[in-house]
Amino acid sequence: EWGTSLIRAWNTHSWIDLPARTGDRIARLIGAPAGSVVACDSTSVNVFKVLSAALSLRPGRKVVLSDNGNFPTDLYVASGLAALLDKGHELKIVAPEEVEGAITEDVAVMMLTQVDYRTGRVHDMAELTRKAHEAGAIAIWDLAHSAGAIPVDLMGAGADFAVGCGYKYLNGGPGAPAFLYVAPEHQDRVTSPLTGWMGHEAPFAFDLDYRPVSGVSRMTVGTPAILALSSLHAALDVFADVDMADIRAKSISLSELFIAEVEAKCPQLTLASPRDPSERGSQVSFRFEEGYAVMQALIARGVIGDFRAPDVMRFGFTPLYLSHQDIVDAVSILAEILETESWNRPEFKTRAKVT
Ligand SMILES: *Cc1c(COP(=O)(O)O)cnc(C)c1O
Repeated sequence: EWGTSLIRAWNTHSWIDLPARTGDRIARLIGAPAGSVVACDSTSVNVFKVLSAALSLRPGRKVVLSDNGNFPTDLYVASGLAALLDKGHELKIVAPEEVEGAITEDVAVMMLTQVDYRTGRVHDMAELTRKAHEAGAIAIWDLAHSAGAIPVDLMGAGADFAVGCGYKYLNGGPGAPAFLYVAPEHQDRVTSPLTGWMGHEAPFAFDLDYRPVSGVSRMTVGTPAILALSSLHAALDVFADVDMADIRAKSISLSELFIAEVEAKCPQLTLASPRDPSERGSQVSFRFEEGYAVMQALIARGVIGDFRAPDVMRFGFTPLYLSHQDIVDAVSILAEILETESWNRPEFKTRAKVT
């Protein structure tokens, strides 16, 4: 498109609408109506934008409630925003099981990640959102490990805002754009703190004053990264004719098989994920003191998972690509690595920059 059309393709291939078109594909997977999701920026930047918007809806309140199972970038961004606003906002971080009890009337925003990145533990989105609303708070959900992994019903749960990742279960490629969701009733009531021209009502009028466009697109900032968005858009092709309930069913079947096989053949490992499949996402983690080295040895044999400090070996299940046979084969390689201690080599113990 670039080679033959150059800049004309912004119109002829609708590149200008690619954030919204890609957002609509994601919307279907997360229980959001068309026109309520845009693909843009990174998850971290989107957390900044939606948290700022959410706080503006509760100007009298100062507490942002989150939990210590949240992914650190979400917490870092919340602290940074609080410091920038300089209005006395407080980030309150409790244990995941204490969130419900901590939803008090001083909470402006409850900001949680639905699926814990280490253990896969799932928060009850509908119930916690209901509790937050009962206390007059706004609910933001991070779907980084949910989108494309488990069925999500943002509208059913009444979530106010959501963000998520394009490069995990959606397979958009390394550094793929993220997405954000704004509930229809808030879309024209909030503005982005990053008032860039792509969120303007008429970017090509080149007015000197900012006027946000109607709808979720006002949360976009600058020129969309078309190469990266095209890759994410194409990656979503495989989801076009599948039902998330079917993906969930196979995910549970794969992960149950994995747990049974590991517990039968790898007694050295301890399950770190909830045992009840309804309480975990599409990942299973095991703890092992030398988990880093074991994961490197696995990767060397073509079984690719990741390691999360201090001792978590995380295995992700993408039902569209993995078979039950893959699971059995992976565990037999894992068992052999543990039994022969072939992980116990210097090359597997040197920590790389990305784990
Ligand atoms: C992976 C992940 C992110 C990543 O944020 P980026 O800005 O894309 O680096 C953010 N939040 C959660 C909960 C994640 O799991």
